[in-house]
Amino acid sequence: MSRRLQQIIPSVATSDGAGVSLRRSLGRAPEARVDPFLMLDEFSSDDPDDYIAGFPSHPHRGFETVTYMLDGHMLHEDHLGNRGDLLPGGAQWMTAGRGIIHSEMPQQESGRMRGFQLWINLPAAEKMQPASYCDIRPEQIPTAALPGGGEVRVIAGTIEVGGGEVAGPVQGITTEPLYMDVRLPAGGDFSLPLPEGHSAFVYAYEGSLAIGPTTESRDLPAQAAGVLGGEGEVAIRATDGPARFLLLAARPLREPVVQYGPFVMNTREEIEQAVSDYRSNRLV
Ligand code: FE
Repeated sequence: MSRRLQQIIPSVATSDGAGVSLRRSLGRAPEARVDPFLMLDEFSSDDPDDYIAGFPSHPHRGFETVTYMLDGHMLHEDHLGNRGDLLPGGAQWMTAGRGIIHSEMPQQESGRMRGFQLWINLPAAEKMQPASYCDIRPEQIPTAALPGGGEVRVIAGTIEVGGGEVAGPVQGITTEPLYMDVRLPAGGDFSLPLPEGHSAFVYAYEGSLAIGPTTESRDLPAQAAGVLGGEGEVAIRATDGPARFLLLAARPLREPVVQYGPFVMNTREEIEQAVSDYRSNRLV
């Protein structure tokens, strides 16, 4: 059994926060989600005008936000008093739960800013849990060499590579997310069995990929999310020069999703409650 590339969700250029230019694949439309993954944004620019305004104070309720930084420096601050320095190769895992109010602001006035923000849904039973925040320094994310060249960094979950186990710093989440950043040399490949029944997608951010068994593989262009169908192992090859991509998998929730901006709940009533709580300073 193997996983196949079932659907391609190209990213679209958009802007969020106070005017940060980014590319959104998952979450560009309500049907462009991969349960429990709600949204994936890639931000990448050498032009400060594209990022300098940052993400000033704003709320979230009902899900988790994961920021993974490739280049640049951002500062996270939230109502709980957390301060997290996001540095190249580092991440932050924030569980909004019933509510968090935070900001993410660039700490540089020039140079490259590059990274990703992923939204992962919470099960209904955990949407109103207290907020929590975890700052992950670059050296806490293990990097393993791949047998055929290239490397994998594991941010969440545990995988087996070349006979050894690689455990990411984020563990114990109900949806059991696997979050990997993979770098392949030209012609290199990476294969990994994914847990049965779990949703999975690949986001190619440099170079293009061929996904699936060699005889029936399908190409995924850069800056697009490829949703995986089937079960078992996924095989990914860098076909056109070196490639870098994210590989994500998690257990789907199969619960109704109602989203209104930064609030993601199960019903319209819960969304109205979130809006009213936020307006009356009762969100957090
Ligand atoms: Fe946010």
